Amino acid sequence: MKNASTTRRDEIAAGLARVERRIADACAAAGRARDEITLIAVSKTYPASDVRILSELAVRDVGENKDQEASAKAGECAGLPVRWHFIGQLQTNKARSVVSYADMIHSVDRPRLAEALDRAAVAAGRRVACLVQVALDDEPGRGGVPPDQVPALADVIAAAGGLTLGGVMAVAPLGADPAPAFARLREVSAALREKHPAAGVISAGMSGDLAEAVAHGATHVRVGTALLGRRTPFVR
Ligand SMILES: *Cc1c(COP(=O)(O)O)cnc(C)c1O
Repeated sequence: MKNASTTRRDEIAAGLARVERRIADACAAAGRARDEITLIAVSKTYPASDVRILSELAVRDVGENKDQEASAKAGECAGLPVRWHFIGQLQTNKARSVVSYADMIHSVDRPRLAEALDRAAVAAGRRVACLVQVALDDEPGRGGVPPDQVPALADVIAAAGGLTLGGVMAVAPLGADPAPAFARLREVSAALREKHPAAGVISAGMSGDLAEAVAHGATHVRVGTALLGRRTPFVR
């Protein structure tokens, strides 16, 4: 048991070192400072014990994409100095639960969801940061609003007393060069900040494309596989 967890800790530490190197290289190439980028460790499908190890390794931001799994894990990790990011598609009836543990919700993609989150946050006496998820391709079912609908949804979030408008989030289109998509996201972000100057978060970049995301202004990268290993199939 002891040996097994020592091994797991070594594995995660090695993954973290590789990811930090990639972020540092991407920052150097883009002329950016490392502290402009928040690394979110995506722990979905991995146990609370991995979050504990990440926390011991000074990772302070953790991402999950399913409420049931996330709420259980956040409960098991109560007391750890980590912030929870909700990054998955979200049903309105999960708003109350997600708001109880999440510090930032990356996947707000419709006014009705923003309104449900606002009601839940107000009821809980919390203020939760929300990002507008932007669809950067025409693939249905991956979440996000088209760029032309971002301003209206952003206004709903900004007007909500229980929410703060953090910025934008996107997932690059599958199997295509991510650079044009991230460039588009940066434009969407710049337009948004004309009206909402504080909404500076650009959540973009995953294990496969974090360097391109950093090159195009990402402030938050969401990294799972490169830190914790390949997830078993079927879970996504
Ligand atoms: C799973 C997930 C990630 C992390 O993906 P990896 O390729 O494992 O780094 C990032 N963003 C979202 C929205 C995810 O669902």
